[in-house]
Amino acid sequence: MRVLLAEDDAMIGTAVRDRLRGSGLAVDWVQDGRAADAALAGGTYDLLLLDLGLPGREGLAVLKRLRGRGSTLPVVIVTARDAVDDRVAGLDAGADDYLVKPFDLKELEARLRAVLRRRGGHASSVIEHGRISLDLASHEVRDDGVPVPVSPREFALLHALLERPGRILSRAQLEERLYGWGEEVGSNVVEVHIHSLRRKLGPDLIRNVRGVGYRIPEDPA
Ligand code: CA
Repeated sequence: MRVLLAEDDAMIGTAVRDRLRGSGLAVDWVQDGRAADAALAGGTYDLLLLDLGLPGREGLAVLKRLRGRGSTLPVVIVTARDAVDDRVAGLDAGADDYLVKPFDLKELEARLRAVLRRRGGHASSVIEHGRISLDLASHEVRDDGVPVPVSPREFALLHALLERPGRILSRAQLEERLYGWGEEVGSNVVEVHIHSLRRKLGPDLIRNVRGVGYRIPEDPA
């Protein structure tokens, strides 16, 4: 899961980035509206967390340009407490949800989950596939009901593959989902995580597609 965070407040930005990275999300952080535009035009994201009061270009303008390009990227806007009109304008311009500053990081995560769930067509925050279940709220993985401890990045990798079973994701696509800007990516880090997941969840869950990438079969074994 790769998130673009557009926020000019250094304290809030740091707190949000660190919190989301701690949950295994890849987070790119920009601090003005033009940089947000550029990142959105050039990158592949699963979600945009957009402060409306941005220097350079207002958040609302960023959102309108994004929707104007036909993008359906899920967007959660962030506004100040008294900015009711901004929130209304943001929702009307195509935002999926909003948060009011100051917000609790737990609420932020819950709202992001809710937006992604709705967009993914999932009614609950638990993804089930055969014996495996993935709880996006508690970050718990279960195999036949038995909890299996996984690292945040192993969780993120499993989530990426289980979102659409059958779809093949390349190593580069998986790296993009796991690591934000400025984070060191080891050369065989995806293989290491896959190896570890196979050790924990069985060798047949994640399949290699030679020369292309990885997938989880559509029909669970
Ligand atoms: Ca701001």
